[in-house]
Amino acid sequence: MPETHPHRVTVIGGGPAGLMAAEVLSQAGVHVDLYDGMPSVGRKFLLAGVGGMNITHCEAYPAFVSRYAERAAQMAPLLRGFGAEALCEWIHGLGIQTFVGTSGRIFPTDMKAAPLLRAWLKRLRDQGVVIHTRHRWTGWNADGDLLIHSPDGEKTLRSDAVLLALGGGSWSRLGSDGAWLNLLEGKGVPYVRLQPSNCGFEVSAWSELMVSKFAARR
Ligand SMILES: Cc1cc2nc3c(=O)[nH]c(=O)nc-3n(C[C@H](O)[C@H](O)[C@H](O)COP(=O)(O)OP(=O)(O)OC[C@H]3O[C@@H](n4cnc5c(N)ncnc54)[C@H](O)[C@@H]3O)c2cc1C
Repeated sequence: MPETHPHRVTVIGGGPAGLMAAEVLSQAGVHVDLYDGMPSVGRKFLLAGVGGMNITHCEAYPAFVSRYAERAAQMAPLLRGFGAEALCEWIHGLGIQTFVGTSGRIFPTDMKAAPLLRAWLKRLRDQGVVIHTRHRWTGWNADGDLLIHSPDGEKTLRSDAVLLALGGGSWSRLGSDGAWLNLLEGKGVPYVRLQPSNCGFEVSAWSELMVSKFAARR
């Protein structure tokens, strides 16, 4: 890494959010160590690839941003900075081609996540990102250092900044179990309760049979 930029950032979580953070930081010359509790990174991302890997949608920006409903105003500047087109360019830059499906959704041509993840991890390693798997963040010690549970035992870490990219609370067998909420709550960090956000639907007049079989309890 350039000696003129000695900052070290710890990214915890190796899903797409953590990997993208690591990419942007390392591109800026920051030294990045990325930690994930699982034996490999991107496990939920790979599972998404099993179902066809919908990357984004080709509709024009005004319609696209309106899909975020009450969060549209918050999302608008983010999508202007890195929207659907930029995402496609980014994927093409990793050597993965895309196509637009009949629904307008955009997919990698081979509809898989693994080749994309492989190319992405190579780019990150080439940029100097150090990836530590089987390293689970469990909180802080009294000095404010990070506590990490690893195959070599308990470790403590200190860096210039820490970026948490720990995923939501579904598919815990892939690593994202939402346990981090308790850690942040213990520190008094305000948070929004986790809730499903992949799709929304309204239920009207379900039969007793449907309710008994499929209605989730809060
Ligand atoms: C079946 C399925 C299909 C999907 N299909 C699509 C799709 O087609 N298109 C799409 O865009 N999205 C799809 N998704 C959603 C997509 O996979 C998620 O939105 C995405 O993975 C979220 O990324 P993330 O980085 O926020 O979190 P995650 O991918 O959940 O990554 C979080 C990471 O943090 C790690 N972690 C958590 N706690 C700790 C800790 N304490 N210490 C260390 N590491 C920790 C986890 O091991 C994990 O690797 C699908 C998801 C599923 C389950």
